Amino acid sequence: MTERAADVVVVGGGLMGAATAFFLRRRGRSVILLERGLIGQQASGVNFGNVRRQGRFPPQLPLANRSRDIWGRLPELLGEDAEFLPSGHVRVCFRREEVGELEAHARDALPYGLELELLSGNMLRARFPYLGPAAVAGSFSPLDGHANPRLAAPAFGRAAARAGAVVCENTEVLAIEKAGDDFVIETRESGRFRAPVVQISAGAWGGALAERFGEKVPLVVRGPQMGVTEPMPYALEPVIGVYSAVPEEGVYLRQVKRGNIVYGGGLRGPAYPDLRRAYVDPANLLRQLPHIARVVPALRALRVIRSWSGIEGYIDDDIPVIGPSAKVAGLFYAFGFCGHGFQLGPGVGDVMAELIATGRTSTPIEPFRIGRFAGTYACYENRGSSGNRVGGFGGS
Ligand SMILES: Cc1cc2nc3c(=O)[nH]c(=O)nc-3n(C[C@H](O)[C@H](O)[C@H](O)COP(=O)(O)OP(=O)(O)OC[C@H]3O[C@@H](n4cnc5c(N)ncnc54)[C@H](O)[C@@H]3O)c2cc1C
Repeated sequence: MTERAADVVVVGGGLMGAATAFFLRRRGRSVILLERGLIGQQASGVNFGNVRRQGRFPPQLPLANRSRDIWGRLPELLGEDAEFLPSGHVRVCFRREEVGELEAHARDALPYGLELELLSGNMLRARFPYLGPAAVAGSFSPLDGHANPRLAAPAFGRAAARAGAVVCENTEVLAIEKAGDDFVIETRESGRFRAPVVQISAGAWGGALAERFGEKVPLVVRGPQMGVTEPMPYALEPVIGVYSAVPEEGVYLRQVKRGNIVYGGGLRGPAYPDLRRAYVDPANLLRQLPHIARVVPALRALRVIRSWSGIEGYIDDDIPVIGPSAKVAGLFYAFGFCGHGFQLGPGVGDVMAELIATGRTSTPIEPFRIGRFAGTYACYENRGSSGNRVGGFGGS
């Protein structure tokens, strides 16, 4: 049996794993990236494409800021831009009593360097004339935007390979054992690998791998639902999202330069990690459309041409696991991004490479430590039909 060795083996080639491999090579570490399917095939490739910082758990903003900086430098770093468009992000609410919550978030975000512009309903419509009368107020984040998820993770994977990473697609990790100072990683298709450091960045499947090391995480798997309309003339520059305590109302949309409106949000559908499938629930699709039209009434006239879902891991407290294992030296985690990992991906890759290479990070990641669940794990079902948390920071 063949055995290949490197400084680091990264398990999972979504945006987290591909970006980590890329940044590890920039720090001179040898790295092998193992992906069961194709790079960026799962959540990282099928998500909505929001590159949004507003609406996040405020202590996550330093990492989101680091990531935003990298999004702006993709051409210089990767030689391609993944269609990142820093066209702004506007978050609207439908109820007067929610205005105070948008204001509070703007206050909380400011110390972290995120400046949000608060707009009354009339100011919103003067600035973005396509918004309907239901929007009573909003906040605008001018430097956020959107990108093409189909392009981002593969671009990092290709750049990592060009920089010398060994990228193995169609390679499923079956077992990871610690043998002395090294980990031995068994795969079905490509033999055995050995490294003193392993990163588990296996998305919705990360919880099951962490559990094999005795680190249980309260993670459930869901399928956020997306759709795309026929094209119309390009008019909607910013990404638009609804802030609401009612899960069905929490929709979001963006227009790509080619004219189509991509939308998502509302209730999440069931996802089946063992089958690697998340199915669209047609009832959820029908629930999304009235709320989309409530935000931008002109969209009512458009035909939906495709809808889809993807498999995402949601952790009980709506924030991911990022950082070293609390139990096993040399083991690192970056998984369970609760519907908001696309924006964070480049920053997570950079920060994980820094952590692995230097033992510390210049961006705080302490809130995301896996040890926060020690002793609190109860019983979690691994799939379901809704699972949205009211008032949390998850979601696109
Ligand atoms: C429909 C949808 C819409 C979303 N919209 C947004 C958005 O607009 N903005 C935003 O910020 N976030 C969004 N998200 C969330 C975001 O897509 C994810 O948080 C992010 O892509 C997670 O990246 P990842 O690398 O952790 O996981 P993934 O992309 O799931 O990658 C994990 C990889 O690990 C591989 N893997 C698993 N087990 C093994 C194994 N044993 N061996 C080898 N490989 C393995 C899988 O095949 C997979 O490719 C959305 C998610 C979905 C599903």
